[in-house]
Amino acid sequence: MRIAVARETRPGETRVALVPELVGKLTALGYQVTVERDAGRGSLHPDAAYAAAGAEVSEAAFVDADVIVSVNPLDASLVRQLPAGTSVISFLPTAANPELVADLRDCGITAYAMELVPRISRAQAMDALSSQALVAGYRCAVVAAGMLRRFFPLNMTAAGTVPPAEVVVLGAGVAGLQAIATARRLGAVVKAYDVRAASAEEIRSLGAQAIELDLETLEGAGGYAREMTEERAARQKELLTPYVAAADALITTAAVPGRRAPLLVTAAMVEQMAPGAVVVDLAAESGGNVEGSVPGEVVRIGNAQVWGGLNVPAQLPQPASRLYAQNVVNLVTLMTRDGAFDPDPTDEIVAGACVTRGGLILHEPTRLAIEGPLPEPEPVVVHTEGGRP
Ligand code: NAD
Repeated sequence: MRIAVARETRPGETRVALVPELVGKLTALGYQVTVERDAGRGSLHPDAAYAAAGAEVSEAAFVDADVIVSVNPLDASLVRQLPAGTSVISFLPTAANPELVADLRDCGITAYAMELVPRISRAQAMDALSSQALVAGYRCAVVAAGMLRRFFPLNMTAAGTVPPAEVVVLGAGVAGLQAIATARRLGAVVKAYDVRAASAEEIRSLGAQAIELDLETLEGAGGYAREMTEERAARQKELLTPYVAAADALITTAAVPGRRAPLLVTAAMVEQMAPGAVVVDLAAESGGNVEGSVPGEVVRIGNAQVWGGLNVPAQLPQPASRLYAQNVVNLVTLMTRDGAFDPDPTDEIVAGACVTRGGLILHEPTRLAIEGPLPEPEPVVVHTEGGRP
C-alpha cells in the first residue's frame, strides 16, 4: 500500500501533511511513503530529511498511490487524473468547494475531510480543528504582543513601575484559551468572554478574569456555541463596549460551527479604543468578529491597528505541520486493518469524516446542498385479490 504526501498548491500555504519524524509511523504500519518533491519546503523540512526517514521523494508521487494526504484539498485538475478508488485525506471545506466535491464523486474518489472528524473523546488525537486552533490562538497573542508598542508584563524597575498591558479575548474555545494562556505567560492582565457557560471556569483556570455579562448563555449541540438572536447580539455589543474601550489589545476568536463568524465588535466600538490600541481578529477570514477587519491585512480603525487573520496556522508551519501530521497519522492508523488501508465504514469516525465514496456524496448536508432533496419514494401499491389496493 502506498501513501503519497502532496505539495500544497494554495497560495501562501506553508504547512505539509506529513513531517519526516512521522514517516516511520506509516512505514511501521506497512505503507510505502512517497513525498512530492519540495512538499516540506514551506515548513522547513528538506526532501533529504524525508528520504533519510525512509520515504521516497518523487515528482510523480501520486502514481500508484492508494491514499493521498494533504492539508488543503487537491486541485480539481489533479483529482480528475486519479484512478477511481483512490482515497484522499485533507481539510475539505465542502460548502466553499461544491464543484470539487462533485468531481470527487464523479471520479469515484473516497474523500475524507479532517474538519468532519467527529469531536468525540476517541477522536481527540485526530482532531485537526483543535490542533490548528491551538497554533492560531498562540499566534494571535504573539501578534498582539508584537504590534503593541508597550510591554505586556508589569515591570518594576529603579526608574519606576510600568503597568502591564490589558488584553481582552472574545471567544474562549480552543484558540481563545490558547491566546489567553499565551498572553498570561507574557504577563498581560487578561479578561475574556465566551457565550458558553463552561468557558468561565476555563478562563479563570488560566489566571484570567472571566467577563460576566447579564445575558443568557448559549450552549449548542456537542459543546459548541449557538447563534445569537439579533437582540442578544446588540445587547452583548453594548455590554462589551467598556471592556473593548479599555483594552490595549483585543483578540477575537469567536465562531459558530457552520455559520459565518458572529460580529461581536463594531467599528464604533473600536473607535473608542485608546491611541496605540491593537485588534487581532482571528475570524477575519470567516466573516470577521470585528467590523472592518480584512483577512491578511492590517487596517486602521480610529486609533487602533486592526490585524485580520488569514490562514493563521500556516504562519507557524513547523508546529502546525507537526500536529496536523500526527492527526493524519492517527486517522490512517485507525483506517488500517491487517496491514492494509481498509477503513471500516461503520466506524463512527470513518463514517463521520467521509464526504464521497463509490460515486456518492455520503456527507448528507453536503449532498443536500449539491444534489438537492432526494425524490419522494413511489407509493407502494399493494394489490389484493379483488384487484383493489
Ligand atoms: P469554535 O471555533 O466553533 O468557536 C470558538 C469559540 O467562540 C467557542 O468557544 C464559542 O463558544 C465562542 N463563541 C461563539 N459565539 C460567540 C459570541 N457571540 N461571543 C463570544 N464567544 C462566542 O469552537 P472550538 O474552539 O473549536 O470548540 C469549542 C468547544 O468545543 C471547546 O471549548 C470544547 O469544550 C469543545 N471541544 C471538544 C472537543 C472534543 O471533545 N474532542 C474538541 C474540541 C473542542
